[in-house]
Amino acid sequence: MKAIRVHQFGDPEVMAMEEIPAPAPGAGQVLIQIEAAGVNPVDTYIRAGSYARRPELPFTPGIDGAGTVAAVGSGVTSIEIGARVYGGWPDSGTYAAMALYPAEQVYPLPPQISFQQGAGIFVPYSTAHRALFAKALAQPGETVLVHGATGSVGLAATQIAVAAGMRVLGTGGTPEGRSLVAQQGASQVFDHHSPDYPAEVLAATAGRGADVILEMLANVNLEKDLALVAPHGRIVIIGSRGSLEINPRAIMGKESIVTGLTLFNTHPEALAHIQAALQTGLQNGTLIPIVSREFSLAEASQAHQWLLQPGAQGNLVLIP
Ligand code: NAP
Repeated sequence: MKAIRVHQFGDPEVMAMEEIPAPAPGAGQVLIQIEAAGVNPVDTYIRAGSYARRPELPFTPGIDGAGTVAAVGSGVTSIEIGARVYGGWPDSGTYAAMALYPAEQVYPLPPQISFQQGAGIFVPYSTAHRALFAKALAQPGETVLVHGATGSVGLAATQIAVAAGMRVLGTGGTPEGRSLVAQQGASQVFDHHSPDYPAEVLAATAGRGADVILEMLANVNLEKDLALVAPHGRIVIIGSRGSLEINPRAIMGKESIVTGLTLFNTHPEALAHIQAALQTGLQNGTLIPIVSREFSLAEASQAHQWLLQPGAQGNLVLIP
């Protein structure tokens, strides 16, 4: 089968297409024919070798994927061959024609959700859901600032928060991205490159600040967030690409909570509950994954370069 392989950590060009044997599902495993693989920032950190988790070389990258069930291993009775599915944590990388999953990490894909959309569910939506509910304990009626709302996690968070009855304020770097966030139900969307936007966020909350801030670039924004969060508010660090200096007194004075999450740490039971909630939202049309661009599998290195450019408008996918 076709697969992207990485023989050494490094720049996007270390990813090359190869022909490798298709894996066979063992006991409790499911083999999925991948119709679309999602490209997440973490894939780029793992490929570069800069992430805390370094797979053994050589490896096939990719976590997110959607497709049809090609085969099941012994003991798998609940999943039918041919079913349309998306995956959770895979046993083999999804940048390939086929990928192996533990049976409990395979979820049905509602008929109205395409494979391309399905490849953008697990990592972005699970992260957004966990940040909002398990970490921020966000409640209907609260104001949520999605700081970096135009990317995969930000759009997912916007849709989930709006569906749960929260007021969403978003930020984005381009007019097209901001318009996309507004279309998802955000009441106001600000330009995170403008020096004026912190004042605009405060004005939008009558000077009080947001109850919850979901932060996609904490090394740039955490100090600003401490000023933009409401008293007793919660800031969830989802993304950070460096360090910064803050004054802890700003946390003390408002009794705000600064927390963070790593999706890899989610307890399996909690992950199953999150997928159940996502299933409902996908079925009732409140959650609609947004694909910004498709690349062929052979273009994986271009997709990684594209992903780290500014101007996000949803999820990137690879088509085997
Ligand atoms: P993405 O699709 O590439 O989106 C990146 C987002 O960051 C875009 O909305 C982008 O906005 C925004 N951004 C750029 N400059 C910003 C600034 N100065 N202030 C605020 N936002 C800014 O990535 P993603 O999949 O949504 O992931 C977002 C971050 O969360 C990444 O760092 C990723 O590694 C991390 N993440 C963490 C976990 C976890 O388990 N902790 C899980 C998933 C993702 P514009 O392009 O419009 O400027």
